Amino acid sequence: MNNEMMLSFVAIEENEALARMAMTCFITPLDPTIEEISEFKTIVSEAVTNAILHGYDCDGKSIVTIHATIEDDKVTMTVRDEGAGIANIEQAMEPMYTTRPHMERSGMGFTIMESFSDSLSVESNVGSGTVVKFEK
Ligand code: ATP
Ligand code: MG
Repeated sequence: MNNEMMLSFVAIEENEALARMAMTCFITPLDPTIEEISEFKTIVSEAVTNAILHGYDCDGKSIVTIHATIEDDKVTMTVRDEGAGIANIEQAMEPMYTTRPHMERSGMGFTIMESFSDSLSVESNVGSGTVVKFEK
């Protein structure tokens, strides 16, 4: 089955649930296992939360965009923000690295996304934003 979707929303925390639900519906025709659904939800949730919080500081007006495709049962998803960007991607992806320790962030987002996806790539530039791409 082949399919393609795009979803854009402003940077408020409530939209993490919207993104999670939309992506869950999008992959449902592939007949995923409960475990695959749960892993997928976690990936979406971590990536979208990062865009809303770190990219845009929950500003309520800047736009996060998800683009996803299904090609022959392979799901590809990008989560894009045009916000703060990441100065050192390698460091940001290290387990337990967080720039927001005071907000009870554990710094495990990227580590979890990596372990639940088949491939993960991050492109980012300070001041122009971040694109995180997954395949699963
Ligand atoms: P957790 O995800 O465990 O709550 P966290 O979000 O800090 O904590 P990661 O998701 O691994 O941990 O991200 C690590 C760091 O990378 C963040 O603290 C932040 O500095 C940076 N980062 C991640 N995504 C973005 C983004 N979209 N824009 C700007 N910075 C980001
Ligand atoms: Mg995170």
